[in-house]
Amino acid sequence: GAGLAEITKKVDSVCPYCGVGCQLTWNVGPDGQGGERIHTVTGRDGPANQGRLCVKGRYGFDYIHNPRRLTVPLVRRHGVPKSPADIEAVKSGAKPLSELFREASWDEALALAAGGFARIRDAAQPGFDSPLAGFGSAKGSNEEAYLFQKLVRQVLHSSHVDHCTRLCHASSVAALLEGIGSGAVSNPVADVAQAEVIFLIGANPTVNHPVAASFIKNAVDAGATLIIADPRRQQLTRRAKWHLQFRPDTDVALLNGLLHVIIAEGLVDEGFIAARVQGYEALKASVAEATPERMAEICGIPADTLREVARTFATARSAMILWGMGVSQHVYGTDNARGLIALSLITGQIGRPGTGLHPLRGQNNVQGASDAGLIPMMLPNYQRVSEAAVRAQFEALWHSDIDPRPGMTVVEIMHAAHEGHIRGLFVEGENPAMSDPDLNFARQALCELQHLVVQDIFATETALLADVILPASAQPEKWGTYTNTDRLLQVGRPAVAPPGQARQDLWVIEQLARRLGAGWNYWRDEDGDGQAAAEAPVARVYEEMRGVMAPLAGVPWTRLQREEAVVTPAPAEDAPGQAVVFIDGFPTADGRARLVPTQFRPGVERTDSEYPFVLTTGRVLEHWHTGAMTRHASMLDAITPQALVSLHPLDAASQGVSDGAMVRLQTHHGEVVARASISDQVQRGQLFIPFAFWEAAANTLTGDALDAVAKIPGFKVTAARLQPA
Ligand code: SF4
Repeated sequence: GAGLAEITKKVDSVCPYCGVGCQLTWNVGPDGQGGERIHTVTGRDGPANQGRLCVKGRYGFDYIHNPRRLTVPLVRRHGVPKSPADIEAVKSGAKPLSELFREASWDEALALAAGGFARIRDAAQPGFDSPLAGFGSAKGSNEEAYLFQKLVRQVLHSSHVDHCTRLCHASSVAALLEGIGSGAVSNPVADVAQAEVIFLIGANPTVNHPVAASFIKNAVDAGATLIIADPRRQQLTRRAKWHLQFRPDTDVALLNGLLHVIIAEGLVDEGFIAARVQGYEALKASVAEATPERMAEICGIPADTLREVARTFATARSAMILWGMGVSQHVYGTDNARGLIALSLITGQIGRPGTGLHPLRGQNNVQGASDAGLIPMMLPNYQRVSEAAVRAQFEALWHSDIDPRPGMTVVEIMHAAHEGHIRGLFVEGENPAMSDPDLNFARQALCELQHLVVQDIFATETALLADVILPASAQPEKWGTYTNTDRLLQVGRPAVAPPGQARQDLWVIEQLARRLGAGWNYWRDEDGDGQAAAEAPVARVYEEMRGVMAPLAGVPWTRLQREEAVVTPAPAEDAPGQAVVFIDGFPTADGRARLVPTQFRPGVERTDSEYPFVLTTGRVLEHWHTGAMTRHASMLDAITPQALVSLHPLDAASQGVSDGAMVRLQTHHGEVVARASISDQVQRGQLFIPFAFWEAAANTLTGDALDAVAKIPGFKVTAARLQPA
């Protein structure tokens, strides 16, 4: 990039990557071709980052200037069939994109996109069994999420709207809503500074939430006790007093062992339980047999260690639990989260600074997208579609009937597509052809759709299977609000214009809605044609959303612009929001939290002599999710250009694999070839592969068995075998 001397404009905004929500400044200057580009990024003193940025935030911005950006609408060439094989062919450069798609005007592309949905919608039987579905985006703004779910519900007349929260923290949210009445965090990450004990389970924040990890490091250096529970080692392990490197998929046994000790040794907070918790006696009975010795046999952590950890957590002045996808991405993920909630509740470690429950949210706006109703069982602000009064409010607002039954979730929609029940799908900013489990099946199901429209900034793996591709705006090209993992509402501002004919996402969604018969009027003539960013339509959508979402009631658009960051819930305009919640009660019908007992059950993926390894998927520091952005960020892709399969040195020796050799990884679901990395971060018998690389698409290997409550797949455990390739 160019030096600071060429900077002509500085735009304050937020990072487009992870849920930490770091504030930053885009430093913009001439691009040498008559336009502008972001040259550098600097960290701002935001509440969540205090000036810090990680490698993605600081160096991962030039994806927006990548020549592969979509700059013109594309429609599938007549007679060219859809094929999963095109993904590798196009990504590898063997087949040009132009063999599959031709360029089109916006008018033609929008007419084709809307026309396909209208035909399917209007031919369907009246009623609620809609053959249409939509996947919105956790990368987009709150306003985009709100408008997208409104499009699916009001205009497509479908309840099948979901997004990648289904694949990350759906089980955490389900357990939290059930247990304490709220799916969001109780305390911000920065509260680790006030925690005497930090219990980190199933999360690798140094990689996935790096700035949050830096606050954890600071807290430990200042005296906090760190307990890590994770089958893999990580960088923070060095700072941990205990690393409980338990056997994969035995979280419930580990947690029940801790609960047993706390109850048996009288370490519970009886006053807190009596005043604020229900279901204690049932929980006590359910873990009566879960002695540390019995649970040690299952999870592999010595009984005495379970005792020491339980005592340390329960007797701490303040103890905080943070967790990630290592807890949630299991077929019993909801049970795992129920165990963590129980741990917090019976010890009274919630409702005060330095305590509480913090599921580290993944993408920059997965919290906000869920809040805004981008989930099939909830309207905005987690108001259940099954409640008549809730439906009545939205039916009056949207002049549209709402199905009282929850719609289908991500993986269910794929199966419905294969079975012919779902015939049209609108995907905005998501990439199910990389993120879904059992990719061979998912990609085939996408091909079987009658009508697939993809709105994105690159020709993603999913877009390559589409009928129409609509070129959208990247986050630094538009206005919008984003809600981070701390429930902090922040403003994203446009630094540069989108390339070519790419348009603002809100404009595109509204154009489709209008062509499908809706009388929307958020984007008005004076706001332009959607090519340049406009603030007013975003503010209009935000204000409509605020009207139906109580936690935003005290944050009009003008306040947010003035303050830049307001923590929610913020019910009053003249008061700060609530960073720590549940101080006096829980947002349940009677104000009390509910304990839900769980029992250990073996998962559905079992190792055997044929598939002797446990394969875990996850992320790496330099890449973000399916790589749609970071694989196009030059510096990040140069640092980490390929998928590495981690395996233990002793397993490498027994399999005859040397470091850096190519290996073939096979499961019941598929196979990939990738390079081996010999590492003691994994246990014997465990393998790890990141899921950001199309060249070795990790989800080809995973299965699509779901958690019964939250419908999240068990990405973290797949039986696998490995051999030199
Ligand atoms: Fe961006 Fe997350 Fe890194 Fe902060 S920690 S700079 S939000 S990727």
